[in-house]
Amino acid sequence: MTDAAELRRRTRELLAAHPPASLPAPPSPASPGDTGRRDFLRARFDAGLAWVHFPEGLGGLGAPRSLQAVVDAELEAAGAPDNDPRRIGIGLGMAAPTILQYGTEEQKRRFLRPLWTGEEVWCQLFSEPGAGSDLAALGTRAVREDGGDWRVDGQKVWTSSAHLARWAILIARTDPDAPKHRGITYFVCDMTDPGVEVRPLRQITGEAEFNEVFLTGVRIPDAHRLGEVGDGWRVAQTTLNNERVAIGGMRLPREGGMIGPVSRTWRERPELRTHDLHQRLLKLWVDAEVARLTGERLRQQLTAGQPGPEGAGMKLGFARLNQEISGLEVELRGEEGLLYDDWTMRRPELVDFTGRDAGYRYLRSKGNSIEGGTSEVLLNIVAERVLGLPAEPRTDKDVAWKDLAR
Ligand SMILES: Cc1cc2nc3c(=O)[nH]c(=O)nc-3n(C[C@H](O)[C@H](O)[C@H](O)COP(=O)(O)OP(=O)(O)OC[C@H]3O[C@@H](n4cnc5c(N)ncnc54)[C@H](O)[C@@H]3O)c2cc1C
Repeated sequence: MTDAAELRRRTRELLAAHPPASLPAPPSPASPGDTGRRDFLRARFDAGLAWVHFPEGLGGLGAPRSLQAVVDAELEAAGAPDNDPRRIGIGLGMAAPTILQYGTEEQKRRFLRPLWTGEEVWCQLFSEPGAGSDLAALGTRAVREDGGDWRVDGQKVWTSSAHLARWAILIARTDPDAPKHRGITYFVCDMTDPGVEVRPLRQITGEAEFNEVFLTGVRIPDAHRLGEVGDGWRVAQTTLNNERVAIGGMRLPREGGMIGPVSRTWRERPELRTHDLHQRLLKLWVDAEVARLTGERLRQQLTAGQPGPEGAGMKLGFARLNQEISGLEVELRGEEGLLYDDWTMRRPELVDFTGRDAGYRYLRSKGNSIEGGTSEVLLNIVAERVLGLPAEPRTDKDVAWKDLAR
């Protein structure tokens, strides 16, 4: 059994073999791949210290998930480079747990190491113009060819990081005669295939984090199918449950989230204060603290297994809080809060609220109640799957997908 003392020993061994002081300075997001950093991350993965709860040989040691904090603290104190989790969030938070649960041994060995080190970025080809909240209605078709491999045609939309991605997790319809949830299959799609076309979509912030993706005759070997043919909806639930935890359940220190900048402004700029704003700030500060502690509870639950629908509650709370807090900050700053003057279309490598002005935070937080499932849909999930309330009437559950009105 690998305990905290053993993990400390292994971490120190890694640090002795790769002293961080001898590594080059952390790279800019534009050049993430310097060799010293990459070699350190590969060595960390091979030592089983990447995600300690993963199996041996796949970046872990089969240790309890809660012990990851021991490794992270040692590495942070030594100034070791990390894998820039914000840049590779889709790979780490969604693709990896799905590959671990449903992938073959060969798939796990091929994909997990470069995913974790950040050498290969992943994106998520789920949403379509006619299938967002009702994701199971998706129409992208995967047809099996004579040799057993697949040909994929269709359109995806709102695909974050598709312009950076080497691989995508993709769900596509393989049986139009089956009801919508049953005729879907889950694949890993090669984003360098000549049939993949990525076009930027510009957001309210002026940036284009996401894209529309056109798939025309894309070849996917059957060896890149995750799970059984027709079982893609079940596989996708693992991705979606992990997505909500990844978005809503980030580990934050006190005042570490959106409440941090607004609290700082409040302390540093007494001339902006009013009684009403004070009341609102205090209420939101308490809400942020409750959300932070609830996140800790959720992470403790996670140590016991895969996240369930409870992640939906965290993500709901996170979206509401971010929107209310950033709204308060804009009001607090008055005219200055409305300044947002750089509308050049940028292609950011990561969504980063730190160091950005109040106007950006206000505009970007609007997407929080849409991405990873809208708040209305998450309320339905909490009602049905957490509270056990009666389900919404669904008349299309047993109808063949090809016969649904579109
Ligand atoms: C910043 C951002 C990043 C994203 N990144 C990705 C990505 O990388 N990959 C990807 O696949 N997708 C991504 N998405 C897409 C996202 O998952 C969808 O936008 C979302 O699921 C909603 O789908 P939709 O946009 O089609 O809206 P619709 O489903 O058309 O919803 C429209 C409105 O109807 C409401 N509604 C729909 N059904 C119900 C219901 N049953 N009960 C009550 N209300 C309902 C919704 O809440 C919403 O207000 C991203 C979105 C955003 C904003």
